[in-house]
Amino acid sequence: MKNMIFDGKDFAQEKERELKRKVDELRRKGVVPKLVSILADDSKESALYVSLKAKFSQRIGVIFDIHQFTVGTKTREIVTDIQKANANSLVHGIMIQLPVENQGEILPAISPTKDVDCLTEENLGLIVIGRPRFLPATVNAVMEIIKYALGHLGHMFEEEKWLKGKTVCIVGASIIVGKPLAMVLSDLGATVIICRSTTGRLSEFTQKADVLISATGAIDLVKKEMVKEGAIVIDVGISKLLRDGKFRVVGDVSKNVLEKTSFLTPVPGGVGPVTVACLFENLLLASQVFDPVKQGTFRRT
Ligand code: NAD
Repeated sequence: MKNMIFDGKDFAQEKERELKRKVDELRRKGVVPKLVSILADDSKESALYVSLKAKFSQRIGVIFDIHQFTVGTKTREIVTDIQKANANSLVHGIMIQLPVENQGEILPAISPTKDVDCLTEENLGLIVIGRPRFLPATVNAVMEIIKYALGHLGHMFEEEKWLKGKTVCIVGASIIVGKPLAMVLSDLGATVIICRSTTGRLSEFTQKADVLISATGAIDLVKKEMVKEGAIVIDVGISKLLRDGKFRVVGDVSKNVLEKTSFLTPVPGGVGPVTVACLFENLLLASQVFDPVKQGTFRRT
C-alpha cells in the first residue's frame, strides 16, 4: 500500500458541510449556537487562531463573539465576564484563547456545560472515568484521523474497542493534548505509551508504535529511524521556523519519515483544520437542549 499524506483541509471541509446542515436545523428550531471567545493576549498567533475560528463560525452560521481584554486586565474582571456568559442562556460555549495570565483562576470559572474546549477539571475528570461530556478538539481530531487512517489501510471496525492490539506512542503530555488523548485511546483498547521531555532514549518507545503521535512543538523531533516500518504518524506540533527569510509553519516530524510510514499528517494542513471543525462540533453538542451528562446519554469515545 502506498504511503498516504493526509489532507486535513479536505477532511475538515466535509465536517464543515455537515456542521452547516446541523446549524441550519437548529436555527429552524429557534436555536442559534453562540460561542464566546475570551482573548486577553496580544500575540499575533492568538489573533490568528481567533480569526480562523471567527471565519469558520461565519461559514457555518453560528455567532462568534470575541471578548477582547488588554494584557494586564485584572483577573477578577475576566472572571466576572465569564460568569455573565455562564448565566446567559443565549451563550452555548465559552473558550479562552491560551495563553492567558492566571489561567488557574480563569479556567475554573467556565461552566462545565459550556466548556467546549474541555479545559475544566470536571470535563477532564469525566474523560478519565471514560464518560466524556466533551473531548478537547485536538483529541477528537486525532482520534478521527487515526480511524480514517486505519480505514484507509483496510482495518475493520466491528469492535467497540477498535484500537485493540495496537500500540500507540504519544510524545507530549500536556493537559490539552497528550494526557486526555492517552485516556481516550486507552479506552478504545490501545496500549498507550506516553513520552515527555524527561523521557530518555525516545526512539526506544517510538519504534514500538503502530500509531505515533507527536505533540511537543519541538521541530524535527521525530526522525525516520525512530519510526516503525508502516506506522501511522500524526504530527500535532506547530512551530514557526525562519527559512529563506520567511517564517514557515512546521511540525514535530521530519519530512523523510514519509519513507517509512503508511500514513502521515502534514503541517500545515493536517491536524489543524480538523481541530477547528471539532471545536464547533462541541459547540453544537453544547447547543442541544439537554446536557448529555445529566441525562446519562454520554457520547461514546
Ligand atoms: P505544552 O508545551 O503544554 O506541552 C508540550 C509537551 O511536549 C510536554 O509534555 C513536554 O514534556 C513535551 N516535550 C517538549 N519537548 C520535548 C522533547 N524534545 N522530547 C519529548 N517531549 C517533549 O504544549 P501543547 O499545548 O500540548 O502543544 C504541543 C504542540 O502542539 C505545540 O506545537 C502546539 O502549537 C501544538 N498544538 C497543535 C494543535 C493543533 O490543532 N494542531 C492543538 C494544540 C496544540
